[in-house]
Amino acid sequence: MICKVIVDVSNSEVDRIFDYVDGGLDVKKGDRVLVPFGNKKLEGFCIDTAEKSDYDPAKLKPIAAKLDDFSCISEEMLALMRFMKEKFYLRYVDCLRLFIPGQMRGGRVRELKRLYVELSKDVSEEEIEKLIPARAHRQLELVEKLREGGEYLSVITEEFGAATVKALEDKGIAVKTDKAVYRKPYDGLKSEADRVRLTDAQRQAVDKILGGDKTVSLLYGVTGSGKTEVYMNAIDRVLKQGKTAIMLVPEISLTPQMLRNFRARFSSGVAMLHSGLGPGERYDEWKRLLTGEARIVLGARSAVFAPVKNVGLIVIDEEHDASYFSESNPRYNTCDIARFRAEYNGGKLVLGSATPSIESFLLARKGEYSLVSLPDRISRHGMPKIQIENMSQELISGNNGIFSRRLEQELRKTVENGNQAILFLNRRGHSSFAMCKKCGYIAKCEDCDVTLTYHSVDNMLKCHYCGKRYKMLTQCPDCGSKEIRYGKIGTQRVVEELEKMFPGVGILRMDNETTTKKSAYLDILGAFKAKEAQILVGTQMIAKGHDFPDVTLVGILDADMSLYFSDYRSAERTFQLVTQVAGRAGRSDKEGLVILQTYSPSHYVYRYAKNYDYLGFFEKENNSREVTGFPPYSTILRVLMTGEDDETVKNCARNMFVDVRAYELENKNEFLFLQAMRSPVARIERNYRYQILMRIKREYEDTVVREIYRIIDENKVRGVSVFAQINPQSMS
Ligand code: ADP
Ligand code: ZN
Ligand code: ZN
Repeated sequence: MICKVIVDVSNSEVDRIFDYVDGGLDVKKGDRVLVPFGNKKLEGFCIDTAEKSDYDPAKLKPIAAKLDDFSCISEEMLALMRFMKEKFYLRYVDCLRLFIPGQMRGGRVRELKRLYVELSKDVSEEEIEKLIPARAHRQLELVEKLREGGEYLSVITEEFGAATVKALEDKGIAVKTDKAVYRKPYDGLKSEADRVRLTDAQRQAVDKILGGDKTVSLLYGVTGSGKTEVYMNAIDRVLKQGKTAIMLVPEISLTPQMLRNFRARFSSGVAMLHSGLGPGERYDEWKRLLTGEARIVLGARSAVFAPVKNVGLIVIDEEHDASYFSESNPRYNTCDIARFRAEYNGGKLVLGSATPSIESFLLARKGEYSLVSLPDRISRHGMPKIQIENMSQELISGNNGIFSRRLEQELRKTVENGNQAILFLNRRGHSSFAMCKKCGYIAKCEDCDVTLTYHSVDNMLKCHYCGKRYKMLTQCPDCGSKEIRYGKIGTQRVVEELEKMFPGVGILRMDNETTTKKSAYLDILGAFKAKEAQILVGTQMIAKGHDFPDVTLVGILDADMSLYFSDYRSAERTFQLVTQVAGRAGRSDKEGLVILQTYSPSHYVYRYAKNYDYLGFFEKENNSREVTGFPPYSTILRVLMTGEDDETVKNCARNMFVDVRAYELENKNEFLFLQAMRSPVARIERNYRYQILMRIKREYEDTVVREIYRIIDENKVRGVSVFAQINPQSMS
């Protein structure tokens, strides 16, 4: 038997299938193996078996060993690998690595085995009675306990003492065995299984998602409309059909609350996969899914690769969230993966959001997705009022600070009343834009109508969509003011200002710096919930999912940061963010207020966001995308080339571009834009970076992308890594 093997080396030059002979090891498709490679032995994946090889079988080397006593990659995942390679231009091995816990590679995880105590099956009830004297209460109690089921030795010893256990063992009543232990993350979380009755709207939503003829549904439901209950009920129904389910949430909304809800509802049938797990825990959860012991997986993006079989339902909650795009190698879009798996298994995919991406809502409106709506909140309380503060006006009135006068006033009120406030700072990427603080003028690209990004290294403004460079502004071209802002407000500075304003008031700060430790994130949220502080200052991390009943005030300090981010999606992102952050205020019986500070108070994003008018916003934004030719009306494809030698990378880019250009000239009507250039960030970690950027008309996406990938293959050279990105989230 010939085994087709992908070796576990991430390198363009070895991204091929190698043939080995089985060597009598009975290797099957999906097994991990050890193979001789050059003068080394490497781990690899057997992705196929065949009767014959194109090579002389006498020259093929035999597989050295099988690495696991189970098969870790299913037929479905092998098909997914091929799909991903074709769609996202990935290496085989980079896909395969996503399918197994990282720690399995190199054999770094062992199954944990512990001693386990059970009643012996060879001893009858009567014999037990004879064997234990009536006064040996502890022994009798232990027998009583073991009648309900076995338990780990350590647990028993703690409760009954070693002597009691030994006594039963000596009499042959109890036996010890080795048993694999699964490390259960968050095992301490208690369940509170109070189940709610679905509203009519919720029940109809579940029916439509599972019963409709479309594979994909878009569940558009305002915040607090009870989407989570819909997901859980749909999952329940799918489980009853003997199938499995995948529930995806943005990493950030994986709060203990969410975990608790799922544990309460599905107990140990749910496994969790997210970055907060230790390697051992991650492996155990993965293994429970592989064996079918757990049939639901709850996790962040990468849980879409969970080894469950016969998937009946995949949920992507907060589907608009940027974290569903993987932006470093391997680059992929979670939604495409989920859709592949749903279609492969004849299951369903539901995308849920209060602010769906323009792309998804458009597909729903066109009828490609089934549109399921939950227009009303479960509770009778409305959404909090959003008050817009014009920061240019503040400047003109002599207030040069971080807080508008109104926000300062409201903060005082909140603190005095014993309530809580959240101050939100907008943070995306490491770059920034140039803006006039007086009139709100924003520097934009003359050709692309997107905001220019400020690069401090060379003090230039650059367009990330066409590569054009501009001098940094020193004066506003509109009003002549020299007050140009290009930096960001730091969380640290906000906290310092607050400490001056409110001496003695508890203030917490949550951002990348304060949450480097795994548990810090939960600690800070816990402290705020316990009212150890009255003000929480934070970045994106505090935007969603959290429920603090005493928060009555939310301040968005620099809403514009995402509005003018150099990205065609910036209006969309800002709308989503404002809606989400606003949802943190006034969640219980106390009325909430949101203060949004901006230099562009009349921008349409704020007009619609203020009224929570998603549909109005969609119409406007959708229209503008169509007019400017940005996604979803086009597809942006970025081919990124990196390598240590500048000349080599540049030449590779140049050669590739010649071929792409030739293709474009023959097919002019399929393209909207094509250019080769240095990447906006020209060098990262000693690697030089060049890119070919194109915008393709949507209807030609499939054919053009395939053709470009073919051109890449033809032009790839040693020393240059080539990556593709479809509609990248960031263009640095
Ligand atoms: P969403 O995910 O749409 O923002 P949630 O699922 O968090 O909304 O629901 C909002 C609140 O309403 C939660 O506290 C939830 O427990 C409650 N809830 C949901 N469905 C029902 C129902 N059918 N009856 C009573 N309460 C419900
Ligand atoms: Zn100006
Ligand atoms: Zn441009």
